[in-house]
Amino acid sequence: MIGDTIAAISTPLGEGGIGIVRVSGPQAISIAEKIFQPYKQRDLKKDNFRLIYGYVHDPEDNEIIDEVLLGVMRAPHTYTREDVVEINCHGGILPLRKTLELVLSLGARLAEPGEFTKRAFLNGRLDMAQAEAIIDIIRATTDDALRLAVGQLKGGLSKKINAIQQELLQITALIEASIDFPEDDVDAYDVEDIYNRVESIRQEIEKMLAGAETGKIYREGLKTVIAGKPNVGKSSLLNVLLREKRAIVTDIPGTTRDIIEEVLNINGIPLRIIDTAGIRETEDVIEKIGVQKTRESIDQADLVLLVFDAETGFSNEDEEIIDLVKQKKGIKILNKIDLKHPTDLKNKLSGVLPGWPLVEISATQEAGIDDLEKVIYDLVTQGRVVPRDGTLVSNVRHKNQLKKALENLKEAQAAIKSGLALDLIAVDIRGAWQAIGEINGTAITENIVDKIFEEFCIGK
Ligand code: GDP
Repeated sequence: MIGDTIAAISTPLGEGGIGIVRVSGPQAISIAEKIFQPYKQRDLKKDNFRLIYGYVHDPEDNEIIDEVLLGVMRAPHTYTREDVVEINCHGGILPLRKTLELVLSLGARLAEPGEFTKRAFLNGRLDMAQAEAIIDIIRATTDDALRLAVGQLKGGLSKKINAIQQELLQITALIEASIDFPEDDVDAYDVEDIYNRVESIRQEIEKMLAGAETGKIYREGLKTVIAGKPNVGKSSLLNVLLREKRAIVTDIPGTTRDIIEEVLNINGIPLRIIDTAGIRETEDVIEKIGVQKTRESIDQADLVLLVFDAETGFSNEDEEIIDLVKQKKGIKILNKIDLKHPTDLKNKLSGVLPGWPLVEISATQEAGIDDLEKVIYDLVTQGRVVPRDGTLVSNVRHKNQLKKALENLKEAQAAIKSGLALDLIAVDIRGAWQAIGEINGTAITENIVDKIFEEFCIGK
């Protein structure tokens, strides 16, 4: 258990029906007793999982700060596994801030970002993968992204990770036993058995990695650029998509994402449209924002929706844009098919950007949009059935750790095949164990723990 008591406003600042000051730690209940006047006389020390009606008052001058509901939750069955008090104030800046200041003046310390969840982790209520899922729940933009994060919080991924880790531990133990007692226990080390066991873990990790790209898209969204020469219908397409598919508008105040993005919900896949300014505010993307800027947004994109004009046909400008995007994944969109259905253009388009599917639409008539959606979905999932539950890897940190583990396992297999000494094989297996242990947090340094929780907001 950690010694001090922390407190923070856990709800967003601004006006709301209620706002919550959360307090966690050994002093949480005694601090609450000093600032809380229950409507009816009662002893907070005897309360547990109860909401009590009353007032927050300043113990110095007895001034009432707010009318509140105070929740008392006793360790260990709480978010942090410590004593937790949640003060449900009215959702205004002053009542919340004054209540927080009172709590701090009585000995609590302002919580760091993510510190409540960090305590839940350090006190063993959640493993690291579960703790990280909490931020994904908060930031989910589609139902599937939410389902995935909740599944991870419930331990879907952790269960798989723990099983792999356990198996690696057993293999290490087996090898180490053979190193320690080479004569007594010659049978303990069966090369083929070890090799096969490593092989089946390797396959399991490969499978997890195969889904990780899609998982990442559910978690972070698919960064998408709508490109095309002027007047092909880029903003018309964006508008029809926004009207039909807008997920939520995210405006996340934070270190890296303090820009407003448009997020579309395409069959559960969050599509983040980047560079909407480029589409909306300039007539000519290439001319006005310049090739460099266009190149930058295309560089960032996971997907390019490249729009062509059925009415005006193919031109040099199309050629130039194709040159910019040809390294990317994308979809060719033939727009304005309500005006013209040119076979020569279609033939031309099937010849460029091989591997990019072609979809015909009319943005203004809202035709072909369902097809486009299906093509996007298929491109992301690559026709595979993707589990949208908590077993899918979605976090890049987890993916990188799995890759490290995979490398170690491959080295172990190579070492076994070339008949290297047992202790060298054990080093590789231990390396894999370590890499996996950084996912669930059983083998993780304080630095990494701190870095992960820095991403959280204050009060979480
Ligand atoms: P952008 O410059 O690429 O963003 O193109 P806009 O979306 O501003 O569209 C240019 C013009 O083409 C506008 O007058 C649109 O109404 C028109 N337009 C866009 N899509 C279609 C379509 O599918 N059919 C027809 N008939 N006109 C369209």
